[in-house]
Amino acid sequence: MTSGGKLDTSILDAGRPLRGTGLFGLQNQQLSEKLGEFHLPAWRIRQLETALYGQRITAVDQITTWPKELREQVQAAGFRVGLPEIVETFRSIDGTERYLIACADGQTVETVWMPEGDGAEDDDSALEPTDAPSGRTWTRATLCVSSQIGCAVNCQFCLTAKLGILRNLTAGEIAGQVAAVLNRQQAEPGRDRINLVFMGMGEPFLNYDAFMDAVRLLAGPMGIPESRMTVSTSGIVPGILRFAEEPVRPRLAISLNAPNDAIREGIMPITRKWAIADVIEAVRKLPLRPRERVTFEYVLLGGVNDQPQHADEVISLVRRANFPAKINLIAWNPGPGVAFTMPDPAAVDAFQQRLRAAGVPAFVRRPRGRDIYAACGQLKKTMD
Ligand code: SAH
Ligand code: SF4
Repeated sequence: MTSGGKLDTSILDAGRPLRGTGLFGLQNQQLSEKLGEFHLPAWRIRQLETALYGQRITAVDQITTWPKELREQVQAAGFRVGLPEIVETFRSIDGTERYLIACADGQTVETVWMPEGDGAEDDDSALEPTDAPSGRTWTRATLCVSSQIGCAVNCQFCLTAKLGILRNLTAGEIAGQVAAVLNRQQAEPGRDRINLVFMGMGEPFLNYDAFMDAVRLLAGPMGIPESRMTVSTSGIVPGILRFAEEPVRPRLAISLNAPNDAIREGIMPITRKWAIADVIEAVRKLPLRPRERVTFEYVLLGGVNDQPQHADEVISLVRRANFPAKINLIAWNPGPGVAFTMPDPAAVDAFQQRLRAAGVPAFVRRPRGRDIYAACGQLKKTMD
């Protein structure tokens, strides 16, 4: 592997659609229906589920709890696992890895692996795994997962927006990104501390059903606690209202990015549809778990929203919201064709101090993998 370079170009199944019916991504009942012709008892389906999501097998032949004949029959009928495949890896000098992962139709999606957390506030939570493979340099990691190919929301500062929306990902493609990367890293959710952030390409709440189906697979048979997942939304009010009703759900982050509607409209046109007050009203419906806080993400854009008076407006906004909240400040990451400037480091510091002095918890997110375009808002298909 070379830092910052392209890797793994040999596995070029991407571009060639795979034939057959993929099983990965289907829930218990759906597996049972799809394999109806085999009249399998419930415990055989449970074995399949364990193999797909617990062991993260890549081929039907690896379902070792099934007799060989059954595996052969299922394969002969055209069924396959259908796990998305990593086709390209970019490695940053800071250890972050960005992957291009190929879906069955040959489209690629981006996923980011950040060993040792993302530099946010949870950094004090290191757990030393006792039986991790030797030579490993990380003790915990955060995976940044995509929910769509491209994005329709069109935030002016975001590189993903330049793609437009190409398509929604399926539940299997969302959970499959996690499975593919865990396999690559030999990570085990039961042993290693794995956090998921749904902050890759796309707006999760504009692909709500597939996104939540993926969450249920991840929190259920894949074994990642929902409390270690965070979903970020640009403020899709109907999505937030549905989310508030979910019995199993990640933590919530709102991309606020501006202190008022006027500035937000200029950088996030979605504000014309749902104003900041509408978003906050919807978030209020969310029943928070003990010690849970809602995160407001705030991308600092040089000269646009990074001044002391903006910090003061954010303080009163958070006070008016009056629910447990914290602010994650992100210095804007540059991208080609995106006409903003990075904030002055002194302005970032002053902004954080001003919030903290007013009693508003504020953290600065360390950019990860900027050199390989893996940082927030830099994900864009780069395989062509
Ligand atoms: N679509 C969702 C989740 C993906 S974006 C959302 O917008 O919330 C994840 C985070 O990256 C958002 O908070 C977004 O505001 C931020 N972001 C986008 N472009 C960025 C850039 N160029 N630099 C820094 N952060 C960016
Ligand atoms: Fe889409 Fe999020 Fe980028 Fe906005 S910031 S365009 S919602 S991915």
